[in-house]
Amino acid sequence: MLAEIITIGDELLIGQVIDTNSAFIAETLNSIGASIYQITSIQDDREHLLQAFKDAESRVDIIIITGGLGPTKDDITKKTIAEYFNDTLVRDASVTKNIEDIWKKYVRQTLLQVNRDQALVPSKAEVLMNELGTAPGMWLDKGDKTFISLPGVPFEMKQLMENKVIPKLQEKYEFPFILHKTLLTYGLGESTLAKRIEAWEDALPTDIKLAYMPNLGSVRLRLSSKGLDEQKVRQGIDAEIKKVLPLIEDAFVGFEDEAESLELIIANRLTASGKTLSIAESCTGGDLAGQFTQNAGASNYFNGGVVTYATDSKIKVLGVPKALVEEHSVVSKEVVEAMAKNVRELFDADYGIATTGNAGPSKGDSDVEVGTVFIAVATKNTVVSEVFMLGSARKRVIRKAVNKALEMLEK
Ligand code: ATP
Ligand code: MG
Repeated sequence: MLAEIITIGDELLIGQVIDTNSAFIAETLNSIGASIYQITSIQDDREHLLQAFKDAESRVDIIIITGGLGPTKDDITKKTIAEYFNDTLVRDASVTKNIEDIWKKYVRQTLLQVNRDQALVPSKAEVLMNELGTAPGMWLDKGDKTFISLPGVPFEMKQLMENKVIPKLQEKYEFPFILHKTLLTYGLGESTLAKRIEAWEDALPTDIKLAYMPNLGSVRLRLSSKGLDEQKVRQGIDAEIKKVLPLIEDAFVGFEDEAESLELIIANRLTASGKTLSIAESCTGGDLAGQFTQNAGASNYFNGGVVTYATDSKIKVLGVPKALVEEHSVVSKEVVEAMAKNVRELFDADYGIATTGNAGPSKGDSDVEVGTVFIAVATKNTVVSEVFMLGSARKRVIRKAVNKALEMLEK
């Protein structure tokens, strides 16, 4: 079953409003098994609308339109839909009542004729009552095809999609079952990962699609498939996952739907084992601790952390020996390991993790190259550290360092 989304509004084409409606509708339609053929944003312009309707109708079964239903002159969607359907606008009594109710309850100003005229709908349309606003949604059948027009205001559009549009679509059409499974990996670059699984990817059945979604040191692999037989779709994807997992064992950290992110996986593991964590940060400036405290339940395992940014505070707060800094560098294996060991003791935790590096753009306190980051993980009896070269763009260096630290901690 194919669908298109047409979002209407001058504001979308000048970049004043970001088209979030399309993303929501696409996600919602996908979740019931409809595939999106195209997403189009167009101006409030009669000819553009007529052309877009015609093009979409020639390609797909379901056309969902948002925007341009307001009472002002620039909103012409309804008029143009009526024209496209060779129809006229008629006043709908239930919409009139809804408008009067909303006015009484929330607006308390004089109800103008333009507001009343929001109850005008094409006579061939079935009204999808919008209890949250004055612009009604509309459903128009054209044989096997369906045009659906929804208000542009996102929260009004969303509730109509969820409560009215989806149930009606499922009544009219039989949708295939769609399954996406996303594997979360850390530590391997996109091309290295691709090379590793090349033979497996080439042998994938044609009804299973693979997508790579890289993001600063982590790559998500999404497997998708669809079909009318849910059981068969699930078995197909599961069989492929079984084959690919051994190939990426060292990089795989979990399924995205089960644990959203690496920090959640670590959080769950620490909580389950009753172990605790402490963090000493320099170049990551607290971002690493923030990754954990963003999620509820961090107090179960996160004892605390310090941001010792200046060299002096590494010495004073963490007790890193001054001689160590002088002998090596403040960005060095020796210093990061001392930071990790000392922060673990300071917070009486099972794990201590530390970062020190130079995120750029200039060399700063140390003489190491921009993008050099040392990360260490300490337990009571061990300390391991690694050095990474993370490029020269400051924000990306920090983000990557946080990801690398999570990755080290996970191991
Ligand atoms: P209403 O009668 O409530 O005004 P409408 O159908 O006329 O509904 P528009 O006037 O086109 O809707 O848009 C209303 C507001 O909704 C816009 O100011 C904009 O902020 C938001 N909006 C419209 N289209 C989109 C979109 N595609 N994505 C996100 N927001 C949108
Ligand atoms: Mg508009």
